[in-house]
Amino acid sequence: MQHRLLLPLLALALCACNTYQPLRDDKILYPSPRRAPDGPGVKVMYFGNTTILISDGETTLLVDGFFSRPNPLSVKFGKIEPNEKVIQKQLDLAKMGRVDALLIGHSHYDHALDAPLVAQKLDAIAAQQGKHTVTMGSSSYAFIHEGGGATCDREHLHIVERDGMTRTFGKFTVTFRPSEHISPHLPGQADMMGHVQALVVPPAKAKDFKCDPVYVLHIRHADEGSIAITTTAGALKDQFKGLTADVVMPAVGLLSKEPCCQQEFYWREAVEKLNPKTVIPVHWDNFLLKLDDSPQVRRNLKAPPLKFFDDTRSTMDFVKRHSKDKDVWTMGLRDSFLLRSGKVLLAKQDM
Ligand SMILES: [Zn+2]
Repeated sequence: MQHRLLLPLLALALCACNTYQPLRDDKILYPSPRRAPDGPGVKVMYFGNTTILISDGETTLLVDGFFSRPNPLSVKFGKIEPNEKVIQKQLDLAKMGRVDALLIGHSHYDHALDAPLVAQKLDAIAAQQGKHTVTMGSSSYAFIHEGGGATCDREHLHIVERDGMTRTFGKFTVTFRPSEHISPHLPGQADMMGHVQALVVPPAKAKDFKCDPVYVLHIRHADEGSIAITTTAGALKDQFKGLTADVVMPAVGLLSKEPCCQQEFYWREAVEKLNPKTVIPVHWDNFLLKLDDSPQVRRNLKAPPLKFFDDTRSTMDFVKRHSKDKDVWTMGLRDSFLLRSGKVLLAKQDM
């Protein structure tokens, strides 16, 4: 009797598991680790979730700077804090030098947890050159920044206004526009909606990192082209009005759990209206797993384990269906590409 039950149970377990891994999907054109070629252009490097380093060699921007990835038990039942060793390791491996601006799209912990400590580390590097690292984030993020011990004066922290903000760093023009978080009805979201209203001093509960207000990011380089980034799969109508982008990096986490009309709306507002040539979905990986740097595991970012939480295959099928006239990629840990005159370039061995 027990044996007879075993097979159906096994089949059920397999159905519930995410056996699909985007980095092994060759229909998403992912033949090997991707590296930017040398030479002029804007180099873009990925660290999972929506942590993205963008540099033209003179000026450097970092989105989020989330590396610690605390374990699920601490996130759900305990308290979380930045892991300095993990952060330093990633900064070193990426050979991160001076960063002019740290950009936080919204203040959930999987974007903002490490930012105050990362800002302090980067600012110490910038100070050696007589410069500052400016952090741009929401009014909610300001409580996290201060609670994390980072400097909050006007040279270090620019609180993004409610209806958005534009700042120039070297040849980059960075625009924050108001947006919306993916729906609160989804697993684990309800507790984390709303505004932060008091200092968040680590270690703190994950649900103290509330998300509003949320912004999309548009980053234009005067010579090389534009990149748009969303840090959650929610959207507002016309959030990118008047803007285009050569590359869009849309967050797709939990998109599979939204109703079809919401998925279509998100795609229209986060991708289609920008008319990009290249789409690189981000925030699909399981950020409860540590970043894996072992040399054997080059394709190191993994989808969440259960379809109940997020059906990554269904999301990537949606992305492919909606991007037939575009290049679609995914990127692994510290993969990079070069944006030169609106074109995306890879080192020859990675083409
Ligand atoms: Zn979020």
